[in-house]
Amino acid sequence: MRAYKVVVEKDYLVFAAGHFITYDNQCEALHGHNYRVRVELEGDLDENTYVFDFVELKRIMRRLVDEIDHKMLLPLENRHLTVSEEGKGIRVAYRDREYLFPREDVVLLPIPNTTAEMLATHLAGRLKKELAARGAENLTALAVEVEESFGQSAWYREELRGAS
Ligand SMILES: [Zn+2]
Repeated sequence: MRAYKVVVEKDYLVFAAGHFITYDNQCEALHGHNYRVRVELEGDLDENTYVFDFVELKRIMRRLVDEIDHKMLLPLENRHLTVSEEGKGIRVAYRDREYLFPREDVVLLPIPNTTAEMLATHLAGRLKKELAARGAENLTALAVEVEESFGQSAWYREELRGAS
């Protein structure tokens, strides 16, 4: 069996964002990271002997990363947080702690928590849609790594079709 994979690496795909995570009965203080992203696409070779064009993959990923760069990332599916629109802002509450952010500084994500695992899942979902729109049927798997600090990262990997 032979396998091919293309990789777009972290140093090119950096985003800075604010977040906090709820865990057990606690909520982190608001803070930020310089996140770094790595993407891997596995698949058969296409007629150009590519798995996927690097230039195109970098262009897609740069755009997806830009969507969350210099933003406050808030999860919409966290049952410990109350997120609501208020005038021109987004209010988020955890027990008696409240934040009010300008709407344009916030990205609301359909995830339960802004962990590196969930940010990787989110980016993979966005990438999967972009790939599907391009009809990249030779691809067999995609994986996204989100590193929130040096040596500390999470991976999400998804098979795109059954083994052929
Ligand atoms: Zn953090």
